[in-house]
Amino acid sequence: MNEINPNTEDNELKSETAESGSHIETGIGEDDGASKFQHYFLEEEESNAPKLTEILRAFLRLREIDAELAEIEEEKGDLPESIEKLRTQNESMKKEYAEKKQILNSLVEEKSKLEQEDSSFEQKIGKYDEQKYNVRSNEEYDEITKAVDSLFEQVKKNESRLKEIEGILSGLDVEIEDLENKIADQEKEAEEKQNLLDELNEQYKQDEVALREKRNSEIGMLDESNRFLYENVNKMYKGEAAAIVRKGNCSGCYNSIPPQRVIEIRSAEKIFTCQSCGRILVAEEILGN
Ligand SMILES: [Zn+2]
Repeated sequence: MNEINPNTEDNELKSETAESGSHIETGIGEDDGASKFQHYFLEEEESNAPKLTEILRAFLRLREIDAELAEIEEEKGDLPESIEKLRTQNESMKKEYAEKKQILNSLVEEKSKLEQEDSSFEQKIGKYDEQKYNVRSNEEYDEITKAVDSLFEQVKKNESRLKEIEGILSGLDVEIEDLENKIADQEKEAEEKQNLLDELNEQYKQDEVALREKRNSEIGMLDESNRFLYENVNKMYKGEAAAIVRKGNCSGCYNSIPPQRVIEIRSAEKIFTCQSCGRILVAEEILGN
């Protein structure tokens, strides 16, 4: 039951001389014996393996910084995401709008062409009607009649297409107006949210800059494997990557930690993560010393 998390074991900073446990064990299992134990432990500190206390404390400082950063993010809430979403929706609506507008324009163009054509056909029909009175033969009369019939046929065809276009246009007009309103509403909403976010950004700018600077310097002090460990756990638990071991429990998930493991964690010769939640474990005794 010891090594559930093999990755962590790989990342542990090991110390070959880390067996100082024989008399330490007397301290465990007694919840109220922590301070007594701590004394015991501190006396032992001089000897044996190099302690990782400073690294563990750095994890705790980083946890605090990240908790503050997470709080700022929380203040901003889902504003950044929702602005992004509104903008994306807006883009696609504008595209749709442009497409519909293009269809509308080409239909309007077609309509005016058909109307022009119709009026020229009507003029021609009028002229033919006049010519009918001056015909000199039946053949001529028939030709005129045929020409007029064919013009009427064209006009009829144009009229039916015009009717069709009218129908499409009236639907399209409604859709376009609807889109225009939606686009305007969305833009307004995005702008309001952006203003709010800008305000929050302005409000927290200094804090954030200071926290990021502090974070960079803390994280820069860690070696690569510890940095990797911390960042990985912090990705999962923003601002809660390290947990205190208190009365044999992980303060992150409240699961109990095997007594032998608690001793090892206190000895600060290796870095352990919680077998239940994966947080980096720091013994209570290491806090603030
Ligand atoms: Zn845990």
